[in-house]
Amino acid sequence: MTNLLFLVDSYLRETKATVTSVKDGKYVTLNQTIFYPKGGGQPYDTGELVKGNETYKVIYVGKFSGEISHEVDHKGLQVGDEVKCVLNWKRRYKLMRSHTAAHVLAALLNKGTGALITGNQLKEDHVRFDFSLEKFDRELLEEYLAKSNELFGTDVPVKWYELPKEEAMKIPGVVKMAGAFPPNLPSLRIVEIVGVDKQADGGTHVRNLREIVKVELIKTENKGKNNRRIYFRLD
Ligand SMILES: [Zn+2]
Repeated sequence: MTNLLFLVDSYLRETKATVTSVKDGKYVTLNQTIFYPKGGGQPYDTGELVKGNETYKVIYVGKFSGEISHEVDHKGLQVGDEVKCVLNWKRRYKLMRSHTAAHVLAALLNKGTGALITGNQLKEDHVRFDFSLEKFDRELLEEYLAKSNELFGTDVPVKWYELPKEEAMKIPGVVKMAGAFPPNLPSLRIVEIVGVDKQADGGTHVRNLREIVKVELIKTENKGKNNRRIYFRLD
């Protein structure tokens, strides 16, 4: 199994790794990786695998049968090759900031109104979030975004750790995704924004809300009772 370094240190931009399998010349697994695979609303990472003087662009990262597969732009890598993994850090760091910002907005809305998340889409340049809200109220969404902005740029630590599932499930609001049930695992990874939110989550986040600085509303849309939609981006 691949050692998932991004779960431990989301700030790791480079690492050495060994190729453990190659399928059709372009789908590569590694003994350890810093590349986040598409999933949980967060896009996959891009970057490079470097072997000697040869650079292989990582163009897609997915999870297949529990293994993380890195799709590279050309053939040539072999099992046993030592490579240097290099993240497209600019893209990843933006995603870390907006992903963490989305947690704060969801937590405040959930606490204040009981809204659940019914959909989310994280893109490099914007975030789209859907909530189940009794009444569509643009001002309410704006108000919660403003409340979130009051926290961004201030010193609020973010931590992540494993908890036994039984203990984790006692945390109110630990799963805010409507219809989602926690994975069938003995422990859950908790992302805690101290004093704001605890959420079961496998994505990558910033260590402090200071790093988000500020977000701005792009637009709101009413897609029905279960899909009050908000778009925002990093300012
Ligand atoms: Zn998250």
